[in-house]
Amino acid sequence: PDEPLPELQPYAGPTTIIDVPSRLLMGPGPANAHPRVLAAQSLPMLGHMHPPFFKIMDEIQAGLQYVFQTNSKYTLMVSGTGHAGMEACIANLVEPGDTVVVGNNGIWGARVVDMAGRFGGKVVSLDQEAGKSFSYEEIKNAVETNKPAVLFLCQGESSTGVHQNLAGLGDLCRANGTLLLVDTVCTLGGVPMLADAWGVDAIYSGSQKVLAAPPGGAPLFFGPRALEKLRNRKTKPASYNLDLNLIGDYWGWFGSRSYHHTGMVSLWYAMREALALVGEEGLEPMWARHQKLHEDLWKGLGELGLEPFVQNPDDRLCTVNTIKVPEGVDWAAVVKNAMDTYSVEIAGGLGPTVGKVWRVGIMGYNAKPQNIALVIEAFRDGLKKQGKL
Ligand code: PMP
Repeated sequence: PDEPLPELQPYAGPTTIIDVPSRLLMGPGPANAHPRVLAAQSLPMLGHMHPPFFKIMDEIQAGLQYVFQTNSKYTLMVSGTGHAGMEACIANLVEPGDTVVVGNNGIWGARVVDMAGRFGGKVVSLDQEAGKSFSYEEIKNAVETNKPAVLFLCQGESSTGVHQNLAGLGDLCRANGTLLLVDTVCTLGGVPMLADAWGVDAIYSGSQKVLAAPPGGAPLFFGPRALEKLRNRKTKPASYNLDLNLIGDYWGWFGSRSYHHTGMVSLWYAMREALALVGEEGLEPMWARHQKLHEDLWKGLGELGLEPFVQNPDDRLCTVNTIKVPEGVDWAAVVKNAMDTYSVEIAGGLGPTVGKVWRVGIMGYNAKPQNIALVIEAFRDGLKKQGKL
């Protein structure tokens, strides 16, 4: 006890005020958050069990019901990024031994294959080459053959730029005792999602893309069939942190509220504001805005001789656009030039598209004509500097 304290490790952290460059984030996400959303995030702290904070949580849930287009009251924000939403859905909807059919046409399907296996699912990977969606017939065949407990599809495959049509799948899943789980991380708010009308049972998303909030929150929806599965599980979900029986009880799903974890107070202010902006604009104008800018982008890129990676026009996603890197072009130099010259982020490929494509996001607050014009200009300049124009 009388021994002197050892010498403390010296402080090596920052001592100056934080300095962050201003960048236009036109990759696949995060996108720039709306200034009103950022302002909301700096409001005073509330306790995570304080009634004014519960009111904000209620407002978020009502906003999510609109964005998902559902009457189901089982919506909430998972504290964590899109992956936390993904893992919450898998951990709660998959019981050990359940068959899970996973639409696997990019890295998100591949991750769900991995994740569902970790939670004891018997995974059937429905493989498709990068750049293509699944036809109704392919999905029908996989569902009728395997009668899975869960079918996973990604509405917007951001590693490949593919949009998955969900028409008719709700009925197909109902007829086969299957729950339909959909990833909407890069699509929610940017392309139509009609959870009830399409018979989707569970959805997760992300805060940092079309919804124009910072990363860290995953909007989640469970329809009545998903809830029934959750409530009647024979085993507890293997993740305590993501147990939706417990998180749902914090969000008031079951008529009371009890502490499971500390809600992400400031981020939920931001989410509340992001949803208020969606409500102000309306979903149909938002979808139309994203679609129109996607068309404008491709018009400009086409004039530069650039081509879409996704062959079938019906499969092209408007929120994440994949552009083929032409023979002999240094894609990374184009990305670097865009950042160095214009402070614009354009991304390279991911997973199966690395080195093959550039990816341009058209999302939320960034989905404006002047930003599309700047991206086209950055491509023009980047190609010109390589003597390719
Ligand atoms: N799914 C899709 C379609 C995505 O685009 C992303 C993020 N790029 C994720 C899931 C994972 O989200 P996060 O990085 O927020 O965990």
